[in-house]
Amino acid sequence: MRQSNYFVPTLREVPNDAEIVSHQLLLRAGFMRQNASGIYSYLPLGFIVLRKIEEIIRDEMNKAGAQELLMPAIQPAELWHETGRWKLYGPELMRLKDRHNRDFALGATHEELITSLVRDEINSYKKMPVLLYQIQTKYRDEKRPRFGLLRGREFIMKDAYSFDSSEEGLDKVYNVMVETYKAIFNRCKLNFRPVVADSGAIGGKDTHEFMALSEVGEDTIAYSSESDFAANVEMAPVLDVYEASEEEQKELQLVEDPESQRESLEKNRIHYTFFETDDKCVCLLTSNEHVVNEIKVKHYFDANHVKPLTVEEAAEKLNVSLHDLSLFNKEIEIYADNAIKAVANGSLTDSTGKSYVNVNPDRDFNIAAYADFRMIQEGDPSPDGQGEIVFARGIEIGQVFKLGTRYSETMNATFLDENGKSKPILMGCYGIGVSRVLATVVEQHHDEKGIVWPVSLSPFLVHLISVNSKNEAQKELSEKLYSIIQNEAIDVLYDDRSERAGVKFSDSDLIGIPIRIIVGKKANEGIVEVKIRKTGESFEVPVNSIIEVIR
Ligand code: ATP
Ligand code: MG
Ligand code: MG
Ligand code: MG
Repeated sequence: MRQSNYFVPTLREVPNDAEIVSHQLLLRAGFMRQNASGIYSYLPLGFIVLRKIEEIIRDEMNKAGAQELLMPAIQPAELWHETGRWKLYGPELMRLKDRHNRDFALGATHEELITSLVRDEINSYKKMPVLLYQIQTKYRDEKRPRFGLLRGREFIMKDAYSFDSSEEGLDKVYNVMVETYKAIFNRCKLNFRPVVADSGAIGGKDTHEFMALSEVGEDTIAYSSESDFAANVEMAPVLDVYEASEEEQKELQLVEDPESQRESLEKNRIHYTFFETDDKCVCLLTSNEHVVNEIKVKHYFDANHVKPLTVEEAAEKLNVSLHDLSLFNKEIEIYADNAIKAVANGSLTDSTGKSYVNVNPDRDFNIAAYADFRMIQEGDPSPDGQGEIVFARGIEIGQVFKLGTRYSETMNATFLDENGKSKPILMGCYGIGVSRVLATVVEQHHDEKGIVWPVSLSPFLVHLISVNSKNEAQKELSEKLYSIIQNEAIDVLYDDRSERAGVKFSDSDLIGIPIRIIVGKKANEGIVEVKIRKTGESFEVPVNSIIEVIR
Protein backbone atom coordinates (compact mmCIF):
# COMPACT_ATOMS: atom_id res chain seq x y z
CA MET A 1 0.00 0.00 0.00
CA ARG A 2 1.30 3.44 -0.97
CA GLN A 3 0.97 5.86 1.92
CA SER A 4 0.63 8.92 -0.35
CA ASN A 5 -3.01 8.14 -1.06
CA TYR A 6 -3.76 5.89 1.89
CA PHE A 7 -6.33 7.23 4.37
CA VAL A 8 -4.19 7.51 7.54
CA PRO A 9 -4.93 10.87 9.13
CA THR A 10 -2.31 11.07 11.89
CA LEU A 11 -2.44 13.74 14.60
CA ARG A 12 0.47 15.52 16.32
CA GLU A 13 -1.54 16.62 19.34
CA VAL A 14 -3.13 14.41 21.96
CA PRO A 15 -6.92 14.77 21.55
CA ASN A 16 -8.50 16.48 24.54
CA ASP A 17 -11.09 13.94 25.61
CA ALA A 18 -8.86 10.88 25.22
CA GLU A 19 -7.84 9.94 28.76
CA ILE A 20 -6.02 6.67 28.24
CA VAL A 21 -3.14 5.65 26.02
CA SER A 22 -4.96 3.25 23.70
CA HIS A 23 -7.64 5.86 22.98
CA GLN A 24 -5.02 8.55 22.32
CA LEU A 25 -2.78 6.41 20.14
CA LEU A 26 -5.54 4.87 18.04
CA LEU A 27 -6.80 8.38 17.25
CA ARG A 28 -3.35 9.89 16.72
CA ALA A 29 -2.07 7.04 14.55
CA GLY A 30 -5.16 7.28 12.33
CA PHE A 31 -6.73 3.92 13.19
CA MET A 32 -10.15 5.27 14.11
CA ARG A 33 -12.32 8.33 14.62
CA GLN A 34 -15.20 9.06 16.97
CA ASN A 35 -18.60 9.83 15.43
CA ALA A 36 -20.62 10.22 18.63
CA SER A 37 -20.07 9.36 22.27
CA GLY A 38 -19.04 5.69 22.36
CA ILE A 39 -19.50 5.30 18.60
CA TYR A 40 -16.51 4.93 16.27
CA SER A 41 -15.44 4.40 12.67
CA TYR A 42 -12.54 2.06 12.04
CA LEU A 43 -10.31 3.66 9.42
CA PRO A 44 -8.39 1.41 7.00
CA LEU A 45 -5.49 0.67 9.40
CA GLY A 46 -7.83 -0.03 12.32
CA PHE A 47 -10.04 -2.18 10.18
CA ILE A 48 -7.14 -4.44 9.13
CA VAL A 49 -6.25 -5.05 12.78
CA LEU A 50 -9.89 -5.71 13.65
CA ARG A 51 -10.01 -8.28 10.83
CA LYS A 52 -6.84 -9.95 12.10
CA ILE A 53 -8.32 -10.33 15.57
CA GLU A 54 -11.50 -11.74 14.03
CA GLU A 55 -9.52 -14.22 11.94
CA ILE A 56 -7.68 -15.52 15.02
CA ILE A 57 -11.02 -15.90 16.78
CA ARG A 58 -12.59 -17.68 13.78
CA ASP A 59 -9.64 -20.00 13.46
CA GLU A 60 -9.73 -21.08 17.10
CA MET A 61 -13.54 -21.26 17.29
CA ASN A 62 -13.72 -23.39 14.15
CA LYS A 63 -11.00 -25.67 15.53
CA ALA A 64 -13.19 -26.12 18.62
CA GLY A 65 -16.04 -27.31 16.42
CA ALA A 66 -18.08 -24.10 16.50
CA GLN A 67 -20.17 -23.07 13.49
CA GLU A 68 -20.35 -19.45 12.40
CA LEU A 69 -23.66 -17.81 11.61
CA LEU A 70 -24.93 -14.25 11.49
CA MET A 71 -28.01 -13.04 13.32
CA PRO A 72 -29.76 -9.71 12.92
CA ALA A 73 -28.70 -6.76 15.05
CA ILE A 74 -32.34 -5.72 15.28
CA GLN A 75 -34.55 -7.95 17.41
CA PRO A 76 -38.30 -8.05 18.02
CA ALA A 77 -39.35 -7.02 21.56
CA GLU A 78 -41.59 -10.09 21.91
CA LEU A 79 -38.56 -12.32 22.44
CA TRP A 80 -37.29 -10.10 25.24
CA HIS A 81 -40.73 -10.14 26.84
CA GLU A 82 -40.59 -13.94 26.93
CA THR A 83 -37.54 -13.91 29.21
CA GLY A 84 -38.56 -10.80 31.12
CA ARG A 85 -35.46 -8.95 29.98
CA TRP A 86 -37.36 -6.24 28.08
CA LYS A 87 -37.92 -4.80 31.55
CA LEU A 88 -34.90 -6.16 33.38
CA TYR A 89 -32.21 -5.04 31.00
CA GLY A 90 -33.04 -1.43 31.74
CA PRO A 91 -31.84 1.66 29.86
CA GLU A 92 -28.75 -0.08 28.51
CA LEU A 93 -30.95 -1.77 25.90
CA MET A 94 -31.42 0.50 22.89
CA ARG A 95 -35.02 0.39 21.79
CA LEU A 96 -36.83 1.60 18.71
CA LYS A 97 -40.19 1.38 16.98
CA ASP A 98 -40.95 0.56 13.37
CA ARG A 99 -43.50 2.45 11.22
CA HIS A 100 -46.27 0.18 12.58
CA ASN A 101 -45.37 1.17 16.11
CA ARG A 102 -43.92 -2.25 16.93
CA ASP A 103 -41.11 -2.40 19.50
CA PHE A 104 -37.63 -3.59 18.64
CA ALA A 105 -34.28 -3.70 20.40
CA LEU A 106 -30.82 -3.29 18.98
CA GLY A 107 -29.06 -6.47 20.07
CA ALA A 108 -27.06 -5.99 23.26
CA THR A 109 -26.62 -9.76 23.32
CA HIS A 110 -28.36 -12.62 21.51
CA GLU A 111 -29.56 -15.24 23.99
CA GLU A 112 -33.22 -14.58 23.19
CA LEU A 113 -32.76 -14.53 19.46
CA ILE A 114 -30.67 -17.67 19.24
CA THR A 115 -32.93 -19.58 21.63
CA SER A 116 -35.86 -18.71 19.39
CA LEU A 117 -33.88 -20.04 16.41
CA VAL A 118 -32.98 -23.39 17.90
CA ARG A 119 -36.17 -24.15 19.79
CA ASP A 120 -37.97 -24.91 16.56
CA GLU A 121 -35.19 -27.11 15.24
CA ILE A 122 -33.39 -28.92 18.05
CA ASN A 123 -36.02 -31.21 19.53
CA SER A 124 -34.08 -34.40 20.21
CA TYR A 125 -30.99 -35.27 22.22
CA LYS A 126 -29.64 -36.72 18.97
CA LYS A 127 -29.27 -33.24 17.48
CA MET A 128 -26.93 -32.03 20.22
CA PRO A 129 -24.34 -30.85 21.12
CA VAL A 130 -24.42 -27.74 18.93
CA LEU A 131 -22.11 -24.74 19.27
CA LEU A 132 -22.90 -21.61 17.24
CA TYR A 133 -21.18 -18.24 17.07
CA GLN A 134 -21.19 -14.94 15.29
CA ILE A 135 -19.00 -11.86 15.10
CA GLN A 136 -21.25 -8.87 15.05
CA THR A 137 -21.99 -5.34 16.10
CA LYS A 138 -23.63 -4.98 19.50
CA TYR A 139 -25.41 -2.01 21.02
CA ARG A 140 -25.48 -1.02 24.66
CA ASP A 141 -26.43 2.44 25.79
CA GLU A 142 -23.72 2.46 28.45
CA LYS A 143 -24.16 4.92 31.29
CA ARG A 144 -20.55 6.02 30.93
CA PRO A 145 -19.17 5.28 27.48
CA ARG A 146 -15.48 6.04 27.82
CA PHE A 147 -11.91 5.05 27.17
CA GLY A 148 -12.49 4.83 23.43
CA LEU A 149 -13.07 1.30 22.23
CA LEU A 150 -12.87 -0.12 25.75
CA ARG A 151 -16.44 0.92 26.57
CA GLY A 152 -18.39 1.83 23.47
CA ARG A 153 -22.08 2.05 22.85
CA GLU A 154 -21.66 0.33 19.49
CA PHE A 155 -18.97 -2.34 19.60
CA ILE A 156 -17.99 -5.62 18.05
CA MET A 157 -18.45 -8.85 19.92
CA LYS A 158 -17.91 -12.49 19.20
CA ASP A 159 -20.77 -14.28 20.90
CA ALA A 160 -21.15 -18.05 20.98
CA TYR A 161 -23.96 -20.20 22.37
CA SER A 162 -23.87 -23.91 23.19
CA PHE A 163 -26.78 -26.36 23.34
CA ASP A 164 -26.48 -29.63 25.21
CA SER A 165 -28.66 -32.44 26.47
CA SER A 166 -26.68 -33.11 29.67
CA GLU A 167 -24.74 -31.29 32.38
CA GLU A 168 -21.68 -33.31 31.36
CA GLY A 169 -22.02 -32.04 27.81
CA LEU A 170 -22.29 -28.46 29.03
CA ASP A 171 -19.25 -28.91 31.31
CA LYS A 172 -17.30 -30.28 28.39
CA VAL A 173 -18.01 -27.48 25.93
CA TYR A 174 -17.45 -24.91 28.69
CA ASN A 175 -13.98 -26.30 29.33
CA VAL A 176 -13.24 -26.39 25.61
CA MET A 177 -14.24 -22.71 25.39
CA VAL A 178 -11.96 -21.79 28.31
CA GLU A 179 -9.04 -23.42 26.47
CA THR A 180 -10.07 -21.79 23.18
CA TYR A 181 -10.13 -18.37 24.82
CA LYS A 182 -6.66 -18.92 26.25
CA ALA A 183 -5.39 -19.80 22.76
CA ILE A 184 -7.07 -16.73 21.22
CA PHE A 185 -5.73 -14.27 23.78
CA ASN A 186 -2.27 -15.82 23.64
CA ARG A 187 -2.21 -15.36 19.87
CA CYS A 188 -3.24 -11.72 20.44
CA LYS A 189 -0.21 -11.46 22.75
CA LEU A 190 -2.29 -10.36 25.70
CA ASN A 191 -1.19 -10.74 29.30
CA PHE A 192 -4.40 -12.04 30.87
CA ARG A 193 -5.86 -14.26 33.54
CA PRO A 194 -9.06 -16.30 33.54
CA VAL A 195 -10.80 -15.36 36.79
CA VAL A 196 -13.71 -16.82 38.66
CA ALA A 197 -16.36 -14.17 38.24
CA ASP A 198 -18.58 -15.31 41.09
CA SER A 199 -17.29 -15.84 44.55
CA GLY A 200 -14.09 -17.80 44.35
CA ALA A 201 -14.52 -18.75 47.96
CA ILE A 202 -17.70 -20.66 47.30
CA GLY A 203 -16.16 -22.46 44.40
CA GLY A 204 -18.13 -20.71 41.70
CA LYS A 205 -17.52 -22.55 38.48
CA ASP A 206 -20.38 -21.37 36.35
CA THR A 207 -18.62 -18.36 34.92
CA HIS A 208 -15.13 -17.11 34.23
CA GLU A 209 -14.08 -13.70 33.06
CA PHE A 210 -10.91 -13.24 31.05
CA MET A 211 -9.08 -10.27 32.45
CA ALA A 212 -6.23 -8.51 30.67
CA LEU A 213 -3.93 -7.02 33.31
CA SER A 214 -3.83 -3.26 32.93
CA GLU A 215 -3.75 -0.19 35.14
CA VAL A 216 -6.69 1.30 33.25
CA GLY A 217 -8.90 -1.74 33.89
CA GLU A 218 -12.18 -1.00 35.62
CA ASP A 219 -12.18 -4.28 37.55
CA THR A 220 -10.00 -5.37 40.41
CA ILE A 221 -8.96 -8.96 40.34
CA ALA A 222 -7.61 -10.95 43.23
CA TYR A 223 -5.19 -13.70 42.43
CA SER A 224 -2.91 -16.06 44.27
CA SER A 225 0.80 -15.37 44.35
CA GLU A 226 1.45 -19.09 43.95
CA SER A 227 -1.39 -20.84 42.15
CA ASP A 228 -3.89 -20.33 39.32
CA PHE A 229 -6.57 -19.04 41.70
CA ALA A 230 -8.01 -15.73 40.47
CA ALA A 231 -11.33 -14.04 41.18
CA ASN A 232 -13.02 -10.76 40.36
CA VAL A 233 -13.02 -8.75 43.59
CA GLU A 234 -16.25 -6.95 42.74
CA MET A 235 -17.95 -10.30 42.56
CA ALA A 236 -15.87 -12.12 45.12
CA PRO A 237 -17.13 -11.69 48.65
CA VAL A 238 -15.26 -13.85 51.10
CA LEU A 239 -17.29 -16.20 53.16
CA ASP A 240 -15.75 -16.65 56.55
CA VAL A 241 -17.92 -19.64 57.20
CA TYR A 242 -17.72 -21.80 60.25
CA GLU A 243 -19.94 -24.43 61.73
CA ALA A 244 -22.26 -23.26 64.45
CA SER A 245 -21.36 -24.45 67.95
CA GLU A 246 -23.70 -26.85 69.67
CA GLU A 247 -25.12 -24.04 71.72
CA GLU A 248 -25.69 -21.91 68.69
CA GLN A 249 -27.26 -24.83 66.92
CA LYS A 250 -29.82 -25.22 69.68
CA GLU A 251 -31.08 -21.75 68.99
CA LEU A 252 -31.55 -22.43 65.35
CA GLN A 253 -34.90 -23.41 64.04
CA LEU A 254 -36.38 -24.49 60.81
CA VAL A 255 -36.45 -22.40 57.72
CA GLU A 256 -39.83 -22.48 56.06
CA ASP A 257 -40.26 -24.43 52.90
CA PRO A 258 -37.04 -26.45 52.86
CA GLU A 259 -38.30 -28.31 49.82
CA SER A 260 -37.98 -25.35 47.53
CA GLN A 261 -34.56 -24.58 49.02
CA ARG A 262 -33.53 -28.08 48.27
CA GLU A 263 -34.75 -27.96 44.72
CA SER A 264 -32.76 -24.88 43.98
CA LEU A 265 -29.71 -26.15 45.74
CA GLU A 266 -29.70 -29.37 43.82
CA LYS A 267 -29.14 -27.43 40.66
CA ASN A 268 -25.62 -27.00 41.95
CA ARG A 269 -25.54 -23.29 41.35
CA ILE A 270 -24.90 -20.21 43.34
CA HIS A 271 -27.84 -18.01 44.20
CA TYR A 272 -27.94 -14.44 45.32
CA THR A 273 -30.57 -12.67 47.32
CA PHE A 274 -30.30 -9.03 48.19
CA PHE A 275 -31.82 -7.29 51.17
CA GLU A 276 -31.75 -3.71 52.18
CA THR A 277 -31.62 -2.96 55.86
CA ASP A 278 -31.48 0.43 57.55
CA ASP A 279 -27.76 0.78 57.14
CA LYS A 280 -26.56 -1.79 54.69
CA CYS A 281 -27.24 -3.99 51.78
CA VAL A 282 -26.99 -7.64 52.64
CA CYS A 283 -26.34 -10.34 50.15
CA LEU A 284 -27.52 -13.87 50.67
CA LEU A 285 -25.59 -16.54 48.82
CA THR A 286 -26.47 -20.17 48.60
CA SER A 287 -24.83 -23.07 46.94
CA ASN A 288 -24.76 -26.79 47.49
CA GLU A 289 -21.06 -26.86 46.72
CA HIS A 290 -18.60 -25.44 49.10
CA VAL A 291 -14.92 -25.55 49.77
CA VAL A 292 -15.45 -25.84 53.52
CA ASN A 293 -16.24 -29.42 54.44
CA GLU A 294 -19.83 -30.35 53.98
CA ILE A 295 -21.28 -26.94 54.58
CA LYS A 296 -23.89 -26.55 51.95
CA VAL A 297 -25.99 -23.60 52.95
CA LYS A 298 -24.90 -20.10 53.83
CA HIS A 299 -27.18 -17.22 54.40
CA TYR A 300 -26.47 -13.64 55.31
CA PHE A 301 -28.95 -11.72 57.32
CA ASP A 302 -29.38 -8.57 59.14
CA ALA A 303 -32.80 -9.63 59.99
CA ASN A 304 -34.41 -6.70 61.74
CA HIS A 305 -35.49 -4.83 58.69
CA VAL A 306 -35.60 -7.05 55.73
CA LYS A 307 -37.06 -5.92 52.48
CA PRO A 308 -36.17 -7.24 49.07
CA LEU A 309 -34.42 -4.97 46.63
CA THR A 310 -35.37 -4.73 43.02
CA VAL A 311 -32.78 -6.21 40.76
CA GLU A 312 -31.93 -2.76 39.46
CA GLU A 313 -31.30 -1.48 42.98
CA ALA A 314 -29.20 -4.46 43.88
CA ALA A 315 -27.14 -4.08 40.72
CA GLU A 316 -26.53 -0.43 41.50
CA LYS A 317 -25.52 -1.08 45.10
CA LEU A 318 -23.27 -4.00 44.30
CA ASN A 319 -21.82 -2.38 41.23
CA VAL A 320 -22.45 -5.37 39.00
CA SER A 321 -24.08 -5.38 35.61
CA LEU A 322 -27.79 -5.97 35.27
CA HIS A 323 -27.05 -8.53 32.63
CA ASP A 324 -25.20 -10.66 35.18
CA LEU A 325 -27.80 -10.14 37.83
CA SER A 326 -30.82 -10.71 35.70
CA LEU A 327 -29.69 -14.27 35.25
CA PHE A 328 -30.34 -14.81 38.90
CA ASN A 329 -33.58 -12.97 39.13
CA LYS A 330 -35.72 -16.04 39.46
CA GLU A 331 -33.80 -17.28 42.44
CA ILE A 332 -33.74 -13.85 43.99
CA GLU A 333 -37.48 -13.85 44.23
CA ILE A 334 -37.71 -17.33 45.65
CA TYR A 335 -35.18 -16.67 48.34
CA ALA A 336 -36.43 -13.26 49.25
CA ASP A 337 -39.81 -14.82 49.96
CA ASN A 338 -38.40 -17.60 52.05
CA ALA A 339 -36.22 -15.33 54.06
CA ILE A 340 -39.02 -12.94 54.77
CA LYS A 341 -41.26 -15.73 55.92
CA ALA A 342 -38.52 -17.09 58.12
CA VAL A 343 -37.84 -13.72 59.65
CA ALA A 344 -41.52 -13.07 60.17
CA ASN A 345 -42.02 -16.24 62.19
CA GLY A 346 -38.89 -15.64 64.22
CA SER A 347 -36.85 -18.54 62.97
CA LEU A 348 -34.00 -16.26 61.92
CA THR A 349 -32.52 -13.72 64.24
CA ASP A 350 -29.43 -11.64 64.35
CA SER A 351 -28.22 -9.72 67.32
CA THR A 352 -24.45 -9.83 66.87
CA GLY A 353 -24.03 -8.86 63.25
CA LYS A 354 -23.35 -12.51 62.53
CA SER A 355 -25.82 -14.52 60.55
CA TYR A 356 -27.01 -18.05 60.46
CA VAL A 357 -29.48 -20.42 59.02
CA ASN A 358 -30.64 -23.89 59.84
CA VAL A 359 -32.15 -26.33 57.47
CA ASN A 360 -34.38 -29.21 58.45
CA PRO A 361 -32.18 -31.92 60.15
CA ASP A 362 -34.38 -34.66 58.61
CA ARG A 363 -33.01 -33.77 55.37
CA ASP A 364 -29.55 -34.61 54.15
CA PHE A 365 -28.23 -31.05 54.16
CA ASN A 366 -28.57 -30.53 57.87
CA ILE A 367 -25.70 -28.18 58.39
CA ALA A 368 -25.87 -24.99 60.34
CA ALA A 369 -23.32 -22.37 59.52
CA TYR A 370 -22.38 -18.90 60.69
CA ALA A 371 -20.89 -16.53 58.24
CA ASP A 372 -19.33 -13.10 57.99
CA PHE A 373 -19.70 -11.20 54.77
CA ARG A 374 -16.74 -9.13 53.68
CA MET A 375 -14.72 -8.42 50.59
CA ILE A 376 -11.50 -10.27 49.92
CA GLN A 377 -8.35 -8.35 51.00
CA GLU A 378 -4.82 -8.20 49.73
CA GLY A 379 -2.62 -10.48 51.84
CA ASP A 380 -5.49 -12.87 52.67
CA PRO A 381 -4.52 -16.49 52.30
CA SER A 382 -5.64 -17.78 48.91
CA PRO A 383 -8.82 -19.88 49.27
CA ASP A 384 -7.05 -22.85 47.72
CA GLY A 385 -4.44 -22.69 50.47
CA GLN A 386 -1.59 -21.82 48.11
CA GLY A 387 0.02 -18.42 48.47
CA GLU A 388 -1.39 -15.02 49.30
CA ILE A 389 -3.94 -12.82 47.58
CA VAL A 390 -2.53 -10.09 45.33
CA PHE A 391 -4.66 -7.40 43.69
CA ALA A 392 -4.37 -6.14 40.11
CA ARG A 393 -6.49 -4.07 37.75
CA GLY A 394 -8.03 -5.87 34.80
CA ILE A 395 -9.95 -5.25 31.59
CA GLU A 396 -12.69 -7.79 30.91
CA ILE A 397 -11.92 -9.02 27.40
CA GLY A 398 -14.18 -12.05 27.47
CA GLN A 399 -16.55 -14.09 29.57
CA VAL A 400 -17.80 -17.65 29.49
CA PHE A 401 -21.04 -18.54 31.23
CA LYS A 402 -23.01 -21.68 31.96
CA LEU A 403 -26.56 -20.46 31.49
CA GLY A 404 -28.13 -23.81 32.30
CA THR A 405 -31.85 -23.69 31.59
CA ARG A 406 -32.38 -19.96 32.30
CA TYR A 407 -33.38 -19.20 28.72
CA SER A 408 -34.60 -22.59 27.52
CA GLU A 409 -37.12 -22.82 30.37
CA THR A 410 -38.59 -19.36 29.93
CA MET A 411 -38.60 -19.67 26.15
CA ASN A 412 -39.74 -23.27 26.03
CA ALA A 413 -36.77 -24.69 24.17
CA THR A 414 -37.13 -28.38 25.00
CA PHE A 415 -35.93 -31.69 23.60
CA LEU A 416 -36.80 -35.35 24.04
CA ASP A 417 -34.17 -37.36 25.90
CA GLU A 418 -33.28 -41.07 25.40
CA ASN A 419 -36.42 -42.08 27.28
CA GLY A 420 -38.72 -39.80 25.32
CA LYS A 421 -38.94 -37.38 28.26
CA SER A 422 -39.19 -33.66 27.49
CA LYS A 423 -36.45 -31.52 29.06
CA PRO A 424 -35.18 -27.94 28.70
CA ILE A 425 -31.96 -27.59 26.68
CA LEU A 426 -28.79 -26.81 28.66
CA MET A 427 -27.15 -23.68 27.35
CA GLY A 428 -23.90 -21.78 27.69
CA CYS A 429 -22.82 -18.41 26.30
CA TYR A 430 -19.32 -17.24 25.48
CA GLY A 431 -18.44 -13.64 24.62
CA ILE A 432 -15.31 -11.82 23.47
CA GLY A 433 -15.13 -8.05 23.10
CA VAL A 434 -13.41 -7.94 19.71
CA SER A 435 -13.09 -4.16 19.50
CA ARG A 436 -12.18 -4.02 23.21
CA VAL A 437 -9.37 -6.51 22.50
CA LEU A 438 -8.02 -4.12 19.85
CA ALA A 439 -7.71 -1.30 22.37
CA THR A 440 -6.40 -3.63 25.09
CA VAL A 441 -3.57 -4.82 22.85
CA VAL A 442 -2.54 -1.18 22.42
CA GLU A 443 -2.72 -0.65 26.21
CA GLN A 444 -0.29 -3.53 26.65
CA HIS A 445 1.90 -2.89 23.58
CA HIS A 446 3.11 0.68 23.24
CA ASP A 447 5.96 2.98 24.22
CA GLU A 448 6.26 6.76 24.55
CA LYS A 449 6.47 7.13 20.74
CA GLY A 450 3.47 5.09 19.74
CA ILE A 451 1.97 1.67 19.22
CA VAL A 452 4.19 -1.43 19.05
CA TRP A 453 2.10 -4.05 17.25
CA PRO A 454 2.71 -7.73 17.85
CA VAL A 455 3.42 -9.38 14.48
CA SER A 456 0.21 -11.45 14.68
CA LEU A 457 -1.97 -8.31 14.64
CA SER A 458 0.05 -5.64 12.88
CA PRO A 459 -1.73 -4.05 9.91
CA PHE A 460 1.48 -4.54 7.86
CA LEU A 461 4.65 -6.48 8.56
CA VAL A 462 6.97 -3.97 6.88
CA HIS A 463 7.03 -0.18 6.75
CA LEU A 464 9.15 0.87 3.79
CA ILE A 465 10.31 4.48 4.03
CA SER A 466 11.99 6.44 1.34
CA VAL A 467 13.78 9.20 3.28
CA ASN A 468 13.87 11.74 0.48
CA SER A 469 11.43 10.98 -2.31
CA LYS A 470 12.94 13.74 -4.47
CA ASN A 471 16.27 11.89 -4.55
CA GLU A 472 16.30 9.75 -7.73
CA ALA A 473 18.52 6.91 -6.41
CA GLN A 474 16.39 6.60 -3.25
CA LYS A 475 13.16 6.73 -5.18
CA GLU A 476 14.31 4.11 -7.66
CA LEU A 477 15.51 1.70 -4.97
CA SER A 478 12.37 2.20 -2.88
CA GLU A 479 10.13 1.40 -5.86
CA LYS A 480 12.20 -1.68 -6.62
CA LEU A 481 12.07 -2.91 -3.00
CA TYR A 482 8.34 -2.24 -2.86
CA SER A 483 7.69 -4.59 -5.73
CA ILE A 484 10.17 -7.24 -4.48
CA ILE A 485 8.51 -7.33 -1.06
CA GLN A 486 5.01 -7.38 -2.53
CA ASN A 487 5.95 -10.21 -4.84
CA GLU A 488 6.84 -12.24 -1.75
CA ALA A 489 3.28 -11.71 -0.50
CA ILE A 490 4.57 -9.75 2.48
CA ASP A 491 2.25 -6.96 3.68
CA VAL A 492 4.08 -3.69 3.20
CA LEU A 493 3.15 -0.06 3.75
CA TYR A 494 5.31 2.19 1.52
CA ASP A 495 5.83 5.77 2.67
CA ASP A 496 6.28 7.42 -0.71
CA ARG A 497 5.06 10.83 0.50
CA SER A 498 7.03 13.99 -0.09
CA GLU A 499 7.07 14.75 3.66
CA ARG A 500 10.18 15.61 5.69
CA ALA A 501 12.07 12.58 7.03
CA GLY A 502 11.25 13.57 10.63
CA VAL A 503 7.52 13.50 9.90
CA LYS A 504 7.80 10.12 8.23
CA PHE A 505 9.75 8.62 11.13
CA SER A 506 7.45 9.93 13.82
CA ASP A 507 4.37 8.73 11.92
CA SER A 508 6.04 5.37 11.55
CA ASP A 509 6.75 5.18 15.30
CA LEU A 510 3.15 6.14 15.99
CA ILE A 511 1.68 3.51 13.65
CA GLY A 512 3.92 0.82 15.11
CA ILE A 513 4.66 -1.61 12.26
CA PRO A 514 7.21 -4.25 13.46
CA ILE A 515 9.91 -3.94 10.74
CA ARG A 516 11.00 -0.63 9.21
CA ILE A 517 13.13 -0.48 6.09
CA ILE A 518 14.72 2.91 5.50
CA VAL A 519 16.00 3.77 2.07
CA GLY A 520 18.43 6.67 2.60
CA LYS A 521 21.88 7.92 1.75
CA LYS A 522 23.36 4.53 0.89
CA ALA A 523 20.70 3.84 -1.74
CA ASN A 524 23.22 4.18 -4.55
CA GLU A 525 25.35 1.44 -2.90
CA GLY A 526 22.31 -0.84 -2.68
CA ILE A 527 22.28 -0.69 1.14
CA VAL A 528 19.28 0.05 3.35
CA GLU A 529 18.76 0.36 7.08
CA VAL A 530 16.44 -2.05 8.94
CA LYS A 531 14.98 -0.94 12.26
CA ILE A 532 12.97 -3.11 14.64
CA ARG A 533 10.13 -1.12 16.16
CA LYS A 534 9.97 -3.03 19.42
CA THR A 535 13.65 -2.98 20.40
CA GLY A 536 14.83 0.09 18.50
CA GLU A 537 17.70 -2.05 17.23
CA SER A 538 18.90 -1.08 13.70
CA PHE A 539 21.39 -2.46 11.19
CA GLU A 540 22.42 -2.12 7.55
CA VAL A 541 21.36 -4.73 5.03
CA PRO A 542 22.31 -5.15 1.36
CA VAL A 543 19.21 -5.10 -0.81
CA ASN A 544 19.66 -8.62 -2.12
CA SER A 545 19.32 -10.19 1.33
CA ILE A 546 16.34 -8.08 2.44
CA ILE A 547 13.74 -10.86 2.13
CA GLU A 548 15.85 -13.20 4.28
CA VAL A 549 16.06 -10.53 6.94
CA ILE A 550 12.30 -9.92 6.92
CA ARG A 551 11.52 -13.62 7.27
P1 ATP B 1 -18.51 -4.90 31.36
O1 ATP B 1 -18.46 -5.57 32.70
O2 ATP B 1 -17.20 -4.34 30.95
O3 ATP B 1 -19.64 -3.93 31.24
P2 ATP B 1 -20.09 -7.04 30.42
O4 ATP B 1 -19.81 -8.04 31.50
O5 ATP B 1 -21.31 -6.23 30.51
O6 ATP B 1 -18.80 -6.06 30.29
P3 ATP B 1 -20.60 -9.19 28.57
O7 ATP B 1 -22.07 -9.12 28.57
O8 ATP B 1 -19.93 -10.26 29.36
O9 ATP B 1 -20.00 -7.75 28.99
O10 ATP B 1 -20.12 -9.20 27.04
C1 ATP B 1 -19.04 -9.98 26.53
C2 ATP B 1 -17.81 -9.13 26.25
O11 ATP B 1 -18.12 -7.99 25.45
C3 ATP B 1 -17.18 -8.54 27.49
O12 ATP B 1 -16.37 -9.50 28.15
C4 ATP B 1 -16.39 -7.37 26.93
O13 ATP B 1 -15.12 -7.81 26.46
C5 ATP B 1 -17.23 -6.93 25.74
N1 ATP B 1 -17.99 -5.70 26.05
C6 ATP B 1 -19.03 -5.56 26.89
N2 ATP B 1 -19.49 -4.30 26.91
C7 ATP B 1 -18.70 -3.61 26.06
C8 ATP B 1 -18.66 -2.25 25.65
N3 ATP B 1 -19.55 -1.37 26.10
N4 ATP B 1 -17.71 -1.87 24.75
C9 ATP B 1 -16.81 -2.76 24.27
N5 ATP B 1 -16.80 -4.06 24.63
C10 ATP B 1 -17.73 -4.49 25.51
MG1 MG C 1 -18.68 -7.58 33.26
MG1 MG D 1 -21.60 -4.26 30.90
MG1 MG E 1 -19.21 -9.98 31.28
